[in-house]
Amino acid sequence: MHVSIVAPVYNERENIEPLHRGLREALNGLLYELIFVDDGSTDGSIEALIQIAEQDTDHVRVVELRRNFGQTAAIAAGIDHSLGDVIVLIDADLQNDPADIPMMLEKIEEGFDVVSGWRVNRQDSFLTRTIPSRIANWLISKVTGVPLHDYGCTLKAYRREVLEGFHLYGEMHRFIPAYAGGVGAKIAEVPVRHHPRRFGKAKYGLERTLKVILDLFTVKYLVSYSLNPIYLFGGTGLALFLSSLLVLGYLIVRRLLFDEHMIRSPLLLMSVMLFILGFQSILMGLIAELLVRTYYESQAKPTYNVRRIIGGDRKE
Ligand code: UDP
Ligand code: MG
Repeated sequence: MHVSIVAPVYNERENIEPLHRGLREALNGLLYELIFVDDGSTDGSIEALIQIAEQDTDHVRVVELRRNFGQTAAIAAGIDHSLGDVIVLIDADLQNDPADIPMMLEKIEEGFDVVSGWRVNRQDSFLTRTIPSRIANWLISKVTGVPLHDYGCTLKAYRREVLEGFHLYGEMHRFIPAYAGGVGAKIAEVPVRHHPRRFGKAKYGLERTLKVILDLFTVKYLVSYSLNPIYLFGGTGLALFLSSLLVLGYLIVRRLLFDEHMIRSPLLLMSVMLFILGFQSILMGLIAELLVRTYYESQAKPTYNVRRIIGGDRKE
């Protein structure tokens, strides 16, 4: 098993050397590579990275981005430049502990496709980080149907196959397990250590929770409806039609039984509006269906995901 460790680095100069040392100790004896992605650091992190790359030519690869693209993009760059069968993501700030990696790799060997770290004793500010993250984790678990305690923990291990075909946008790296769950991956959750930050500053505050919640809409849509959006839009459209008819029916009954004028009630307008909205929604679903076909067929993407194939020699 060849393991790629991917760490995004943004202004983590003092953390680089201890992180590298920790990773080397933890992975001693395994076949591995360490990929550090410098995400446009301005504090000289790149010099520290070049130094370890020169010392440890067998294992270290440094990918330097031209500017700060954000943690998710940095992770994507690292994955694209990795070669391993198993990819482990880890923060470069020493809050995750490299010593947890061997235990996670054992889980992968047991047959899991994703091993997700869970910071049981999280060492971050309670009010601005831990509480919002609890709410976000609960919400993400409910919406995606993949229950995890800690989506936000970067320390996770993945078999390469489950990452293929998933492009990372926005704050999406945290949603990889939800996507993987959507294509049928086997997921394990393990408690991992977490340390307070010793060097450098945290790069995020409360505003990230908002972004995460917005991304959740996209992920839910992609996982549940990306193959047949008409179910979502058409379903909504039919519900709107039905409400429109119910309101209209009520107005007609009132007209016939109690002799009340239909056009004197605002309900008539509402019924018409619901009807138009329903119609629009179904049309939108049809357009989305066309887009899906363009998306899958232009790139010859399969609409399924094979775990393995048993028996029968493949004839080329
Ligand atoms: N990071 C990055 N680009 C950014 C922001 C952060 O590569 O624009 C890296 C950062 O260097 C660290 C990891 O992402 O290795 C997590 O960042 P941070 O520790 O600030 O986040 P937290 O642990 O508070 O979630
Ligand atoms: Mg951190």
